Amino acid sequence: MLEKYDLHSHSTASDGSLSPTDLIIRAQQQQVTALALTDHDTTVGLAEAQQAAEAVNIKLINGIELSVTWNKQCFHIVGLNIDPENIALKAGIKQIQTIRYERVAKIAALLEKKRIFGAYEAVVAAAGETGMITRSHFADFLVAQHHVDTEQEAFDRYLGQGKPAYTSTTWAELSDAVSWINQAGGVAVVAHPMRYNLTASWMKRFLTVFKEVGGAGIEVITGRINPDEVRRSLNYAKQFDLAASQGSDFHNPKNVWLELGRLAPLPDGIKPIWELF
Ligand code: AMP
Ligand code: MN
Ligand code: MN
Ligand code: MN
Repeated sequence: MLEKYDLHSHSTASDGSLSPTDLIIRAQQQQVTALALTDHDTTVGLAEAQQAAEAVNIKLINGIELSVTWNKQCFHIVGLNIDPENIALKAGIKQIQTIRYERVAKIAALLEKKRIFGAYEAVVAAAGETGMITRSHFADFLVAQHHVDTEQEAFDRYLGQGKPAYTSTTWAELSDAVSWINQAGGVAVVAHPMRYNLTASWMKRFLTVFKEVGGAGIEVITGRINPDEVRRSLNYAKQFDLAASQGSDFHNPKNVWLELGRLAPLPDGIKPIWELF
């Protein structure tokens, strides 16, 4: 059977709005046959997703999206086909989660300086007992409390880099994150490479290091990418001998322009990442 892959998606285990079960059901409705759930810095949604996937005959690829700091900038590294029980990976996840929880308190304190109260309690409640808290949770809170009209405005006015509630965070080391993924039997993929606004020379430095430390792939097709960006990503894949991945980065059905499985085909002449699974 010809598989339809979507190798980047989020559930309520991080900042997606659908439960793992509802995400799988939606994937099936969109004719996705192989889905990777890649929540931010957590694997807790994978067990439920696996059960749901078996029920509707979708192939679930165990995934994660790790937050990394390299050269003082945040990068996202997707791990695909990981064993979520691997001890090295679990310890690494725990390390990032500690950083995340400390950051939640910092962001809430910065909002209080702007006389916005109750954020901490709200985001903790919204994330639930096991959910990872991200800036999206703060954005939802700011919308719900009518401080802003949209999530985008929440980032533009409060949460984005350089804004009053922004706190710079040192996430995991790039080499550590790639190593955790590899030790867990997975493959490490640079997520949405065009979103870091790197010059070509910095992108080359980054990909050189990524490859040296054991990185395997790069997203060539992501949600809302334009043809020029596809061409540039493809060139980086070829230049650095990285396999190509495709994933929507689906978070929420309300974003009507970004749907599960709605992806341009991978260009010819490049190795698809799933050949490494
Ligand atoms: P965090 O990892 O906690 O910094 O949260 C990052 C998440 O917030 C991303 O995965 C996106 O889902 C969302 N996000 C980041 N920047 C923006 C933005 N400018 N507008 C809307 N959502 C954003
Ligand atoms: Mn997100
Ligand atoms: Mn990301
Ligand atoms: Mn993502």
